[in-house]
Amino acid sequence: MHTINEPARMTPVAHECDICIVGGSGTGVFAAVRAARLGASVALIEQHGFFGGTATAGLVNVWHSLYDTSGANRIIGGLTREVEQRLLRRGGGTEHRPDPGRGFTFNSAELTVLLDDLVREHARIRPFLHARFVQPLTDGARVTHAIIEDASGRRAVKARVFIDASGNGDLLARAGLSFRQLADLQPPTTCVVLAGLDQVAAKHAEFNLAQAVFDEKHPDALPRGFLWGAGVPGVRGARMIAGTRVSHADCSDADRLTHAEMEGRRQARAIRDIVRARFEGGDAVAMLALPAHIGVRETRHADCLHRLTEKEVLEGVRFPDAIANGSYRVDVHHSDRPGLTFRYLDGTEVYAVPGRPPEKGLWREPRGESPTFYQIPYRSLVPKDADNVLVAGRLMDADRGAYGAVRVMVNCNQTGEAAGTAAYLACEADTPVSEVDAGRLRELLGLG
Ligand SMILES: Cc1cc2nc3c(=O)[nH]c(=O)nc-3n(C[C@H](O)[C@H](O)[C@H](O)COP(=O)(O)OP(=O)(O)OC[C@H]3O[C@@H](n4cnc5c(N)ncnc54)[C@H](O)[C@@H]3O)c2cc1C
Repeated sequence: MHTINEPARMTPVAHECDICIVGGSGTGVFAAVRAARLGASVALIEQHGFFGGTATAGLVNVWHSLYDTSGANRIIGGLTREVEQRLLRRGGGTEHRPDPGRGFTFNSAELTVLLDDLVREHARIRPFLHARFVQPLTDGARVTHAIIEDASGRRAVKARVFIDASGNGDLLARAGLSFRQLADLQPPTTCVVLAGLDQVAAKHAEFNLAQAVFDEKHPDALPRGFLWGAGVPGVRGARMIAGTRVSHADCSDADRLTHAEMEGRRQARAIRDIVRARFEGGDAVAMLALPAHIGVRETRHADCLHRLTEKEVLEGVRFPDAIANGSYRVDVHHSDRPGLTFRYLDGTEVYAVPGRPPEKGLWREPRGESPTFYQIPYRSLVPKDADNVLVAGRLMDADRGAYGAVRVMVNCNQTGEAAGTAAYLACEADTPVSEVDAGRLRELLGLG
C-alpha cells in the first residue's frame, strides 16, 4: 500500500480524568454513570451526535427480558431497569411481561433524549459528541491518552483507565492489543421504520411480510436471511423492521462498511417497494426513518483472561467473578446460508428460515432440570495484554455460540456497568484492571 509521512504536531489536551470511555451506546453511558456515581471523573467519547449506539443510531428498539427463563425471577436490574422505568413513565416504552421472551420495546428517540438526561445529571461525566476516537498514545502496556477528532479539531483526553465500548474495538486494535475476528461473521442488517403496514395487513388476511420480501419472483427480493419487527411505542401504525442482510460484510473495514451501508439501505427501500407492488392498498406503506448506522452484529472480539464458551452459557455455569446474568438464547445469524439457529437452555434447538417450517431438534439429551439463566465473568472484559484497558459490550470475549447469546443489549448494558465500576476500583486501589477485587466489584454492582 502507498503510504505518506504525516508531519508531527502538537495536540491540545482537552480533558484529564480518571476514566475515558470510547463509545456511547447504552454500554458506554452506563459505564460512565456507574463510575461517576462512585466518584470518578469520566470522559465519554461518541462519534455520533447522540448516545445509544445500535439502540438509537441503529433503530433496534427491543431490550430482552430481565427475567430468567421461568419468567418468575428477575435476574437483571441496575441501570437497564432504571432506564426502562423512566421510559415507561414517559410513555416511551412498553413492558411485555408476563411474556418473558419479549422483554421491552422502546421509542428510540425517547431513549436518545433520556440518555442525554442521564449523562447531564452527572457533573463528573464530560461528554464529547461528534467526537471520533482515532488513536491511543501508549507508555509500555499502559494507554495514556485517547486522541479524538471532533468539531474543534484534533484533541487528546488523558485518563488513568480506558474502556473500549466501541463495539468494533477501535481502541483495542489501534493500541495493538490482542483480538481475533472470525471468518464467518454474523451479517449486518439495516433496520427501517415503516408506516402503513397495519393498513395493508387489515386489507389482506394472508399478508405475510417475510414471505413477500423473500419471494424470488420479485426482482428486488431480499437475500433470504431472517425478518422480524417491533412496534414503536407512542407512534400508531409505525413498525421497526429488521429484514435486510449484507453477507460477508466486515464492518470494521472502511470500504466494506461503506458498501454495506448503501446496500442495506437499498434493501430497506425494496421492502417498501415490494409491498407497494404486490398488495392492493400497498401505497399506504412509506419509510419513516432510516438508521444513522447499519446494525452491526459482529466484528472483532477481544482476547481476554477468559473466553466465555457456548457450553458455559447453555449449562448455566456460575462464576465467582460473575458481573452479569442473562437468559437470552443463543442466536446465530448464518453468514453462508439463510436463516438463523437458536439454542435454548432447556436443551432444544431451532433452525429458522423464513417461508419454511422451523427445524426443531435438541442440542443435548433431555434431562430433569435445566438452568434458567447464565452468567458473564469479569475476566471476559479484561484484555490479557493490557494494564489499564477494559472492554465492554459486544467486544467482550466469547466463542461463536456464547457470543450469539451475550451480544444482546441487556447483557451489553451490564458489562458496561461492570467495566465502569471496575475501572473506578482500579483507580481507587491504583492497581492493574486484572487485579480488581471481584468480590468488591460484585458487591458494588449489587450482585454479591
Ligand atoms: C439488526 C440487529 C438486530 C438486533 N436485535 C437485537 C434486539 O432485538 N435486542 C437486543 O438486545 N440486541 C439486538 N441486537 C444486538 C445488539 O443490538 C448489539 O449487539 C449491541 O447493541 C452492541 O452494543 P455495543 O454497545 O457493544 O455496540 P454498539 O451499539 O455498536 O455501540 C458502539 C458505540 O460506539 C460508538 N463508536 C464506535 N466507534 C467509535 C469511535 N472510533 N469513536 C467514537 N465512538 C465510536 C458507536 O457510534 C456506538 O455508539 C441486534 C443487532 C442487530 C445488528
